[in-house]
Amino acid sequence: MDSPITIFDRLGTGSTPVGAKVRLRTAHVLGGGVAGLLAARVLSDHAEQVVVVEPDRRESLLSGAVRSGAPQGSQVHLLLPGGRRQVERFFPGFVEEAVAAGAVLCEARRTVAYLDDAEQLPTPNAEFLASSRPLLESLLWRRVLALPGLSLVHGRVTSLGFAHEAVNAVHLARDGHRTEMASDFVVDATGRASRIPDWLHRGGWPRPETDRLAADVRYFSARFSRSSTWDGPLCGIARYTPGFPTDIAGAAVNAVEAGQWAVMLARYGAGGDGLTADALTARCRELPPVFAEAVRGELIGEVVPHRHPHSRWRRFDALERLPARLAVVGDAVASFNPVYGQGMSSAALHASCLSEFLRSDTDLDAAARSFFDLQGVVTEAAWRTSTAADAVRLGVAGSARTEAEQRQARAMRLVHRAAAQDVEIATAVRAVGFMTAHPATLLSPELVARAANGNGVEDR
Ligand SMILES: Cc1cc2nc3c(=O)[nH]c(=O)nc-3n(C[C@H](O)[C@H](O)[C@H](O)COP(=O)(O)OP(=O)(O)OC[C@H]3O[C@@H](n4cnc5c(N)ncnc54)[C@H](O)[C@@H]3O)c2cc1C
Repeated sequence: MDSPITIFDRLGTGSTPVGAKVRLRTAHVLGGGVAGLLAARVLSDHAEQVVVVEPDRRESLLSGAVRSGAPQGSQVHLLLPGGRRQVERFFPGFVEEAVAAGAVLCEARRTVAYLDDAEQLPTPNAEFLASSRPLLESLLWRRVLALPGLSLVHGRVTSLGFAHEAVNAVHLARDGHRTEMASDFVVDATGRASRIPDWLHRGGWPRPETDRLAADVRYFSARFSRSSTWDGPLCGIARYTPGFPTDIAGAAVNAVEAGQWAVMLARYGAGGDGLTADALTARCRELPPVFAEAVRGELIGEVVPHRHPHSRWRRFDALERLPARLAVVGDAVASFNPVYGQGMSSAALHASCLSEFLRSDTDLDAAARSFFDLQGVVTEAAWRTSTAADAVRLGVAGSARTEAEQRQARAMRLVHRAAAQDVEIATAVRAVGFMTAHPATLLSPELVARAANGNGVEDR
């Protein structure tokens, strides 16, 4: 078995997938959000026909506007380097196309990050694709609809059919009618509210256990007009450690399409119910300069709130019984505290897991265990990053018990401390947050020794 670092590196590759074989007649993707679209692209290498089932209408999917099936589209979304690499891998030329459509590639020299209001060292890997999520999704839809053998079916999936220990049908409701579609492979990408546990249960299969961490984050996003003469940072991120005296969990401003800034403030539960436009503007003016700049122009629309009650990971990887010909991707598997911006990148890496699984010679009449194992590596990496601070804040962080765990925890502290003054270490730490490297890379003996040296500590 390869180490998680090796698996993560392999999945995160930017190289074109080779060795695709058509092994399926008809595959179905349930849900056409970012996760579903990338899964559809992968399936098109392996199935004669790919059917995406989505309740939102084609016009709305292509409109570039927030749609009812993905209301989180009104919130600030940033595509991290790990996700960008996969999107570009499966849709070559996508980033250029997105930029031509108004998305902004925030280069490292125009990105600024703060931790507890202190500016972090700039690193060469801090490069993001910034746009509204609806713009990104509409461009993905255009690419997906152009794939050979692909069709979009309007409808809402209500359950799955099973036969011979495998999924064999998709049941859906469409314009008041119930329909059944025979399927050779189903990918559930219906998002955080996915009913897949119930669909499995109804078919006589166990529901997956769910890991939960209460984050209770209130997100507030708004758009402001952006000055055409601004030549400072195009992307600003501020995060706060659990002990820092502020009610803000994080803040982000990104230059996006249509000459606008997308501005976000996130607060933890208590007292975080509402935020007027005036209050959001006032809070941003108290933050570092790029935040004040982003709210200098005219407010466009209104402040849109969003509540994220908890981070959640459905453990399909731990299920003892699972039907064959089924995969689950994106938020339907795990949804994280959005402050870390990992959702779309995780979904993109899930597509890479699906590609590796379907390119292998695995028996498709057995449960897709190797797919869920690969996905477990990606999800665990994102989960570790996004829950660490929340676990400390909630007082539920596990303490290192064994000597080896204590050593690891000490090494991790050294590395994080050294990241404040050593660009190489800061780049390695950021690579984990940006989903281009597995968290275990931070424990490499070379990096830990370098961190210990820089901190004036003996590496033991
Ligand atoms: C406030 C907030 C901020 C975020 N910021 C970022 C960020 O900066 N960067 C980032 O990478 N991620 C971010 N995310 C996460 C990101 O939105 C998701 O993780 C990512 O888009 C993957 O979503 P998905 O495709 O799995 O699900 P969704 O986007 O929820 O899509 C699910 C799709 O399934 C369809 N559907 C639902 N039910 C059915 C059904 N029964 N039958 C058929 N179709 C159905 C829906 O209509 C929808 O199209 C943020 C999330 C939130 C909430």
